Amino acid sequence: MRMHGFLFGKSLNPCSIRLYLHVNEVEDLTLLGVEHIGVAVRNVEEASKVYSSILGFKLRGIHILSERKVKIAFMSSGGETDVELLEPLDSESTVAKFLETRGEGIHHIAVRVSDIEAALSDLKQKGVTLIDEKPRKGAEGKLVAFVHPKSTRGVLLELVMK
Ligand SMILES: [Zn+2]
Repeated sequence: MRMHGFLFGKSLNPCSIRLYLHVNEVEDLTLLGVEHIGVAVRNVEEASKVYSSILGFKLRGIHILSERKVKIAFMSSGGETDVELLEPLDSESTVAKFLETRGEGIHHIAVRVSDIEAALSDLKQKGVTLIDEKPRKGAEGKLVAFVHPKSTRGVLLELVMK
């Protein structure tokens, strides 16, 4: 009984209640779902064959992003969220460094936002570390920006303007 009383008292700590309300009140950033999941691979052509012929995805296109030194294949899942396969074209590419340390696997999560400039300034204001302060053009011409994993519990987060 004494233990229950102790736990109950703890859960009503005014500090934790304030923090909870604060988190739920901030609504400046509007997310519109997960756009894609980025997967680092050693070879885009080989990986896209696995994703299409075995896993049922459909290849939507292969792009080269010379600025980021990556080759990208977009694999359609048939739903709202696709898979983006990323192959480094240079040992200096951040994807090459990712493969070196972690091997093939999930590299980033991309979320849709309605206004990427507003999203970036909102996140910056909240003290989030941004990789891109300004949006840049992604592989399919959409505006994108990356948020540093140290602000997202270790997950590289990409914002994509819908
Ligand atoms: Zn991406």
